Amino acid sequence: MIVVGLTGGIGSGKSTVSEGLARLGAVIIDADAMTRELQQPGAPVFNAIVERFGQEIVAADGSLDRLALAAIVFPNPEILKELNALVHPEIGRAIRSRMREHLGTDSVVVLDVPLLIENSRYPVAGVAVVDTPVDIAIDRLVNIRGMDETDARARIARQATREERLAKADYVIDNSGDRDALALLLPALWEWMQGLEPVAADDQRLADPVDPPDATDGKSLA
Ligand code: ATP
Repeated sequence: MIVVGLTGGIGSGKSTVSEGLARLGAVIIDADAMTRELQQPGAPVFNAIVERFGQEIVAADGSLDRLALAAIVFPNPEILKELNALVHPEIGRAIRSRMREHLGTDSVVVLDVPLLIENSRYPVAGVAVVDTPVDIAIDRLVNIRGMDETDARARIARQATREERLAKADYVIDNSGDRDALALLLPALWEWMQGLEPVAADDQRLADPVDPPDATDGKSLA
C-alpha cells in the first residue's frame, strides 16, 4: 500500500480530483465523508457532541445542525479545540482502520483531507495539493454549488492559506482551468503516486494510539 495525502482549500477541487483518481484505480478515503458518517444521529461522536453542546445543535429532524454548531465553535478557538478533541480521535481511528485493510496490497490509497497533513499522523508518502486561485474556487462554490459568497469567504479565511499549503506540497495539481484541463493532468499525478514509497508492514502510524494525541490545532474538520 502506498498512501498519498490529497489536500487543497475549500472548493479547490479535491473531490473532483479524487473521482478522477478513483477511475484510474486509487482507493479514496474521504475524511469529510467519514466525519459526516461518524456524526450521524446515534453514533458515538454525535452523542458526545450533543452531550457537550446540548439540544440546540440538534436539528428538527434529529440530525446534527452543523450551522448551529459552527456558530458556537468558530468564534471561540477554545471551544473549537474541545469539539475537535471529541471528533478527531474517532476520525483518526476510522481512517487508520480503513488503511489497515490495504496493508500488504498494492493499493494506492488517497487520503482526501481538508487539513494540512502532518506526515507523523498517518503514513503518508507524499502530499499532493490541488491548487486553485481563491477567486476561482469561490466562483465555483457560489455558482455551481449555490453557496453564499460571504460564507465561502469566511470558511476560506479559517483555513490554511494557499501559500501555506503550497509550502507543504510534494506535488501540485493546477485546477485553475476547466474540467478537461484538469483531466489531462491526472495521469501524471497517478504515475507520481505509484512511484512513492510503500508503507512498511510494521509502521506504527497505523496503530491506534492508546491515548489519542490527534491534533486539535484549531484547523477544524467541520
Ligand atoms: P470541498 O472543500 O467543499 O470539499 P472540494 O475541494 O472537494 O470542495 P470539489 O467539490 O471537487 O472541491 O469542487 C468544487 C466545485 O467546483 C464543484 O462543484 C466541482 O464540480 C467544481 N469544479 C471542480 N473543478 C472544476 C473545474 N476545473 N472546472 C469547473 N468546475 C470545477
